Amino acid sequence: MPQDRFQRTIHYLRISLTDMCNLRCVYCMPEDMTFRPRAELLQDEELLRLVNCFAGLGFDKIRLTGGEPTLRSNVVELVRDLAQTPGIRELAMTTNGITLKPLARALRDAGLSRVNVSLDTLQPEKFRRLTRWGRIEDVWAGLAAAEAVGLGIKLNAVVVRHQNDREDVVDLARLTLERAWQVRYIEVMPLGNVADFQKTAMVSANELRATISEAFGPLELLNEGRLDGEARVYRLPNAKGTLGFISPVTQPFCAGCNRVRLTADGRLLLCLLRDKELNLLQRLRAGTTDAEVMKAISDTIWYKPWGHGLAQDVRPSRNMSEIGG
Ligand code: SAM
Ligand code: SF4
Repeated sequence: MPQDRFQRTIHYLRISLTDMCNLRCVYCMPEDMTFRPRAELLQDEELLRLVNCFAGLGFDKIRLTGGEPTLRSNVVELVRDLAQTPGIRELAMTTNGITLKPLARALRDAGLSRVNVSLDTLQPEKFRRLTRWGRIEDVWAGLAAAEAVGLGIKLNAVVVRHQNDREDVVDLARLTLERAWQVRYIEVMPLGNVADFQKTAMVSANELRATISEAFGPLELLNEGRLDGEARVYRLPNAKGTLGFISPVTQPFCAGCNRVRLTADGRLLLCLLRDKELNLLQRLRAGTTDAEVMKAISDTIWYKPWGHGLAQDVRPSRNMSEIGG
């Protein structure tokens, strides 16, 4: 498996299937967002070829994201091909859930094991405001379909100051009393052209835990505090599910980072918040062999930056939807 110069083993690839989205969450992209022309994006066979190269290097875990990954026209066929790639042991997806209902069964049959569904509030009107036009009923329908076919479920809530930082956080936590889901709270990060808004909008994981324990009593820390992926995990008293806190801003988890990202336009990104990238699409289209592609990937990974540099005010130029959050 590839290693970087800090002895981190890198084996987890997050793939943005498209930069397009059917929502415009206020912390993610502006309302008038423009998307890349299709010809500039990785085509299916290019994507599969790259994934074979990553798997050949020892990558075993993939998360499909975006933009909204379910908008990729042949997402089910892609999932099937990716799941059958030798070496890939885990295939998950992060989605807003809006178009999940009709796809859940086919995705599960094709080899998807889990979905992380983004849901920042349980209040329909607030959901519409935060996403600019989303209907929460569609997300619930997607969640019900995912649960019915046995896909593992986590919820992702980005918390925004003065919008969903109080009762919404508590309402979401309450879901775990009856459901064996993990509800994960994410500190909003300053990226791209909505960065100024995000800086003032961030609510720390510490503050969120205080808000939640005010409502339910003390939270039980699980895994002896070890991270589950990027989340620190807790449980409410007598709950079936768990609460995860992802705190890239106040408690970065860079030391344990095991991931790189492939953007929809075929760039290998070494870190969510750093602009350094390797243009793999260009190499594929220039006729580079698989062996050369694999060497370029592992040479680049060696120089993966230690951390995201938020504390030093590093600001990437791409939005979250372009990076593949
Ligand atoms: N469209 C899908 C979705 O919303 O789940 C997948 C892509 S989205 C970019 C992936 C995750 O990034 C979502 O959970 C979203 O809430 C989160 N996200 C977007 N912008 C963010 C920001 N500025 N800071 C922290 N998380 C963000
Ligand atoms: Fe779309 Fe996901 Fe970004 Fe919301 S967070 S605008 S659903 S890509």
